[in-house]
Amino acid sequence: MLFLRVGILLFFITSGDGFVRNFRNLASGVVSEILNNETPGSEVTYSYDDNDPYGPENWDRIDRTCDGLRQSPIDLQTESVWIRRRDRLTISELTTRPISIDLTNTGHGAQIAFNFPNAGQAVVSGGPLLGEYKIAQAHWHWGETDGSGSEHLLNSKRYAAELHVVTYNSRYASVSDAKDRIKGLAVLGFFYELDETATSDLLITNWLANIIENDSSYTEAVNTFTINNLIKEAQFDYLSYQGSLTTPTCDETVTWMVSTKPLKIKSADLAEFRKIKDKKGNLVLLDIMNLLNMFLLLPFTFLMEINIFNLLQFV
Ligand SMILES: [Zn+2]
Repeated sequence: MLFLRVGILLFFITSGDGFVRNFRNLASGVVSEILNNETPGSEVTYSYDDNDPYGPENWDRIDRTCDGLRQSPIDLQTESVWIRRRDRLTISELTTRPISIDLTNTGHGAQIAFNFPNAGQAVVSGGPLLGEYKIAQAHWHWGETDGSGSEHLLNSKRYAAELHVVTYNSRYASVSDAKDRIKGLAVLGFFYELDETATSDLLITNWLANIIENDSSYTEAVNTFTINNLIKEAQFDYLSYQGSLTTPTCDETVTWMVSTKPLKIKSADLAEFRKIKDKKGNLVLLDIMNLLNMFLLLPFTFLMEINIFNLLQFV
């Protein structure tokens, strides 16, 4: 049975890879020239806009890694995982109320950073992680419609939005220093499902009007919330796999842990997200093109180690 399954997977690898490359090669030579002139080491330029030379169709020209074999996001299938119990996942500062929270329009979305007392930094460890990973920021992905914002799929279902809590290996100085190192990054992912009857779990809705323009930021020092408030439940099952950043430079250095229990969000929250603008003044919306990888490369995920956990310890 195992042999049969591996054989089928190998078939998919071959055909899937060819399809992706052929598809991506449709990009024009002019676009290629523009992107190849990017200054090495400068800030990476990309967008979710199909009509933009820096859009998802051309991300592999911004960085060839975006055409790699371990690209995220993927369709997470709970029936296909290898269930494996590891040490408990722990998050320090989980219930520490921050002095303030910085909210920023990065040009690609809305991002927060916690400012803890005494310059403390929250650290994630345990689970599939070796060593400690420092939480750098958390950000959200949303879409054109209420049902189309998550990057990952769970059992082929796309959710309204997705939260990413981004951490970097404490051996390195920052996310940018760690992102091209093996096991450099780890991201906790949480889906939001649309629910007009429940209390919304999106705690930044009222702040979003302050960061509509690119590069704008807002600091909230009164109505702050904890990491535990953000992810709502400290104990959650999650699926883990070795994947990548979901935007250029697409580095395949990310240990993903995606919760299988969605948080709640309302249509009014998503409407606020959809006012956020990118560097060109266009709306930041998740593009279906970005999700293409997920379907074409789905079979690769089963060659990776996929685990499910259910114990997150308070620290
Ligand atoms: Zn993300």
